[in-house]
Amino acid sequence: ILSLKSLGVKSGDEVITAANTFYATAGAIVACGAKPVLVDVNDNYQIDETLIEKRITKKTKVIIPVYWGGGIPNIDKIIKIAKKHSLNVIEDSCMGIGGKFKKRHPGTFGDIGCFSFHPLKTINAIGDAGMLCTNNKKLYEWMKKYRNHGMRDRDNIDLWGINMRMQPLQCVVVLEGLKKINKVIQTRNLNAMYLDTHLKKFNKFIKIPERNKDNLETFALYMIRVEKRDKLINYLNKNNIEAKIHYPKPLCLQKPYLKYNDKYVSKNAIQQSKELITLPVHQYLSKDQMKFMINKISKFYN
Ligand SMILES: *Cc1c(COP(=O)(O)O)cnc(C)c1O
Repeated sequence: ILSLKSLGVKSGDEVITAANTFYATAGAIVACGAKPVLVDVNDNYQIDETLIEKRITKKTKVIIPVYWGGGIPNIDKIIKIAKKHSLNVIEDSCMGIGGKFKKRHPGTFGDIGCFSFHPLKTINAIGDAGMLCTNNKKLYEWMKKYRNHGMRDRDNIDLWGINMRMQPLQCVVVLEGLKKINKVIQTRNLNAMYLDTHLKKFNKFIKIPERNKDNLETFALYMIRVEKRDKLINYLNKNNIEAKIHYPKPLCLQKPYLKYNDKYVSKNAIQQSKELITLPVHQYLSKDQMKFMINKISKFYN
């Protein structure tokens, strides 16, 4: 909300984002009075940049690419499209913290990058917290003011603002967490590579996304597409493996979005919502636990 408002997004505007993102991306757009316009995703579960231009209208103001699951969208191409059409880019890098695209971190390509330290994220804050980053001094000053009641100082306001301040305890915890981010991402990558290697053997039933050497994914979520998804997840859950689905009903099919009567169909996002399964990949997993997981998946398909 803060990043969109700083760019002047308001009622009547349109903002483009991915059809499979978490509700917050679209909710923020709507909270600014604007309309979310969804674009379908590619086989890496990221916004398909080749489909963006068809969704741009005179009302479009911003593109919000999402680092979905900690994967990496084709951010250089998205920035090019935005430049060509004089649009701003806000990166929803909530799941991309610590990742890289060609040696550069998510959240540093667009006008503003957004991060979340919600308890389920790679770095958390013992409670809720978030972070924005920008190179734009004007946007930075505006956002700092707006999130603190528009105050210039104790006795003067420059604009009407609200309270979006982060609490000190959360700041302290996040700052400690950030010191460990590289190690955490490294461990998650090792776990993901272990799973990739062993799950490849079941390529008749399991589709693993292609891994691009230019990218350092964060594996906020380890997502694969599988046959007999619903049966598999039941079986894994019964065996105490915390497999999940992100999400069984994609954003483009959620009730408030359907009200827009958008004729555009996000085919891949809908198909993926029927096939995706998220397996544990976090930094506290042991090798035995991963072996156990692979064993159960092997048993299931045999
Ligand atoms: C978690 C998440 C959010 C929301 O973060 P909050 O801290 O709950 O506001 C937004 N977008 C994406 C992609 C996320 O993963």
